[in-house]
Amino acid sequence: MTSFLIDGQLAVDAGAVSRVLSIEEQRQVRHILISHSHMDHIASLPFLIENSFANGDAAVNIYCTKRVLANVRRHMFNNDTWPDFSRIPNHMYPSVRFVEIEPEQPFEIAGLGSGPVEVTAIPVNHIVPTVGFLIRQGSGTVLFTSDTGPTDRVWEVANHTKGLGALITECSFPTDMQNIADISLHLTPTSLAGELAKVRPEIPVLLYHFKPPYIDQLRAEIGGMEFAQHLEELEQGKTYQF
Ligand SMILES: [Zn+2]
Ligand SMILES: [Zn+2]
Repeated sequence: MTSFLIDGQLAVDAGAVSRVLSIEEQRQVRHILISHSHMDHIASLPFLIENSFANGDAAVNIYCTKRVLANVRRHMFNNDTWPDFSRIPNHMYPSVRFVEIEPEQPFEIAGLGSGPVEVTAIPVNHIVPTVGFLIRQGSGTVLFTSDTGPTDRVWEVANHTKGLGALITECSFPTDMQNIADISLHLTPTSLAGELAKVRPEIPVLLYHFKPPYIDQLRAEIGGMEFAQHLEELEQGKTYQF
């Protein structure tokens, strides 16, 4: 259930925001970047919005590309699965503001505790339209690929980004499930190694998205392999600085 939180105010994906934050903490989240429409990345979005709405706060801004936004609207805020909060209480003063972003066009989100954040969406190769995010704040920069199978552009961006503090990327299935990973456009340790061969060796890599039934197997498999980069598994609930 993927979610990252920057300065307590900007969420990157919303798989688990309402499950781990208190109501008061959820009300501080004013901006949400959505990488793609899969449930493990948007599941808590309806409740996060409702929890803010109930308190009459200003609109929550949800940033996604046109193709991701189309899926989020069609499958979630469709008035069947959940109300269209971009028209509640009314379209002039809604509780949600969808902000359409363009791939590869940097934009700024202001008003965060540690200063403005510059975000650039980079398309990756997943089974539904998906983007990763290059995120800068002050001198810190991190690149989150989101879910992806073998791809190229996002690694190019990693290589061209000076002072990249970390590359957060996925590993979903063990190599004995390579066929499932290939069909669903995810990575195994073996295909991850192939992808990281395209990335500068000095960039630190943080891994997320281990599918829960295979966590132990993935840790053992990755631990027994050699990578050019320093690899670390992201820890739930931990705060990182880049
Ligand atoms: Zn996905
Ligand atoms: Zn996912």
